[in-house]
Amino acid sequence: MHVETPLIESMSLSASAGAQIFLKLDAVQPTGSFKARGVGYACVEHRKRGAQRFISSSGGNAGLAVAYSGRRLGVPVTVVVPKTTTQRAKRLIELEQAEVIVHGESWHEANAMALTLLDASSAFIHPFDDPLLWTGHATLVDELARQTEPPDAIVLSVGGGGLLCGVGEGLKRNGWNEVAIVAVETLGADSYAQALAAGKPVLLPAITSIASSLGARQVCQQAVDLAREFQIESVVVSDAQAVAGCMTLLDEHRILAEPACGASLAALTQKTSVLARAKRVVVVVCGGVGVNQRQLLDWDAAFRLKT
Ligand SMILES: *Cc1c(COP(=O)(O)O)cnc(C)c1O
Repeated sequence: MHVETPLIESMSLSASAGAQIFLKLDAVQPTGSFKARGVGYACVEHRKRGAQRFISSSGGNAGLAVAYSGRRLGVPVTVVVPKTTTQRAKRLIELEQAEVIVHGESWHEANAMALTLLDASSAFIHPFDDPLLWTGHATLVDELARQTEPPDAIVLSVGGGGLLCGVGEGLKRNGWNEVAIVAVETLGADSYAQALAAGKPVLLPAITSIASSLGARQVCQQAVDLAREFQIESVVVSDAQAVAGCMTLLDEHRILAEPACGASLAALTQKTSVLARAKRVVVVVCGGVGVNQRQLLDWDAAFRLKT
């Protein structure tokens, strides 16, 4: 369901960071984000087990990946989204021939409704908290292991922690246990930073960041447990920094991605203890379709005005 993505060395980012920076370009997945990996794998497995319908409650990249996988596998898909979901997001999911049901004011209500649709012949595809998903996301590291020597650090964004868990699984299954992980979030969506500080998942009262794909109010338990097995450094950037990261990616590499992804590029400008020491760094360019050039330029202009 996913494609093998390029790994490129960014000469411009390397020059400003003072280290070798490689970009793993998952923005070029057919669904625009890395979600194609884990969601695709989960859908294939559920299909093998006899599922005749896939159900999702994500109006974002996860829902789109379920819709895409369902179309490719010939399995009908229903995505329940809240009223706040943009026309554009609904259209992208419908273009993948999935049924979109709009229900409730927030994701919580849409999700509750989605769960009532479940029966013995359908499978619910969770956006981040599912071992099947992590096993699929781990293919990102399998590819890295074919493309390069082990880096000193991998930089990635954290929403609910599915990508993080998948990369952890991939590092383990490739024997790359010494690679440090830099886990990046935006302020207002920093559920992982708070979970690491508390030693257990913490429920944020609300999400106040524009990086909607990082907007899980609580990370999965496995993401917290992983910090016992790997050196994981949590980094929190501002929305303005995340948008600046998107602008850098666009200007230097002509790739448009969400602030959820720009956050990881923004982390390179922070001299964290891991990044200050690392000589070779892989940044997961996780992508995201929830942005267009107009939106990005509007955010950029708004943040420039404020500073
Ligand atoms: C889903 C997503 C994330 C966060 O991934 P989690 O597995 O929820 O941690 C980050 N960026 C993009 C573009 C996403 O779609």
